[in-house]
Amino acid sequence: MAELQEVLDEIAFDASVAEDRGLVAQYIPQLAKVEPSQFGISVALTDGRVFSAGDAATGFSIQSVSKVFTLALALGKLGDAVWSSVGREPSGNPFNSIVQLEQEKGRPRNPFINAGAIAVVDLIMAGHQPKEAIGEIVQFIRHLTDDDSILIDQHVARSETDHGDRNASLAHFMRSFGAIDHPVDHVLGVYFHQCAIVMTCQQLARAGLFLANQGRDPVTGAQVVSEQRARRINAIMLMCGHYDGSGEFAFRVGLPGKSGVGGGILAIAPGKASIAVWSPGLDPVGNSKLGSAALEQLARQMEWSVFGA
Ligand code: GLU
Repeated sequence: MAELQEVLDEIAFDASVAEDRGLVAQYIPQLAKVEPSQFGISVALTDGRVFSAGDAATGFSIQSVSKVFTLALALGKLGDAVWSSVGREPSGNPFNSIVQLEQEKGRPRNPFINAGAIAVVDLIMAGHQPKEAIGEIVQFIRHLTDDDSILIDQHVARSETDHGDRNASLAHFMRSFGAIDHPVDHVLGVYFHQCAIVMTCQQLARAGLFLANQGRDPVTGAQVVSEQRARRINAIMLMCGHYDGSGEFAFRVGLPGKSGVGGGILAIAPGKASIAVWSPGLDPVGNSKLGSAALEQLARQMEWSVFGA
């Protein structure tokens, strides 16, 4: 097995000279302004050591990577009742697709497509005002990261609110089936703020560590979710974490992962490491182009694929 720091340095170098970096997300104007030349990677091992390369200390908009944390939070609050509101099958459709919702009567396929994440937010909001729900999500992520400095980028949240017609359509459609309890603008307000959380690769890798360690934070010893739940969240990440690019990601990388349109990906090597990579340019499906390539290289060289070396 290769030396981890050397592998990360090589990956960061390859990224620095890559010509085709993909395209930064355009549909959220605030994200379209992000400089595409950036690249960072951080690996938090279950023994507590952390290795990084590139722009691993630069904050970025975690966007849909946040859906992993809201799923864990909702499961902690409501248990398996979550699964009556949202399924756990890959969608095979783009992240913001509405087509399956009609056929499946407003119950989203999985918690990682936008419709599913909006349904999860609706569950988290039970008994809360929107501001309290946002606070609870941010607090949960701060707790996982062991870092109180994590904040929301209000410009990104506003930018998404102003251009959120597709997500509003999904939410209204679900509400028409009775699949959402709270007013649509409240649910979307919470969802857009959760997506606008800013984290660095170092923070994100740290926050995902419980998923690499059977649900327990190996640094603090806190049991975040049960062992079975950690296994199941990883299974959903593997099957659904990259939208209609999930099969390709499993084929090339072989690790549970969740991407976001900010260009971040959280990947889990169970029993070994939590990995965060960020490069803002996306492939046509909406997943970080260099981030996916970096994880492919890392998993291969470290022999971390869940399907064997
Ligand atoms: N906030 C984004 C949206 O709802 C999240 C999509 C993503 O990161 O894949 O459109």
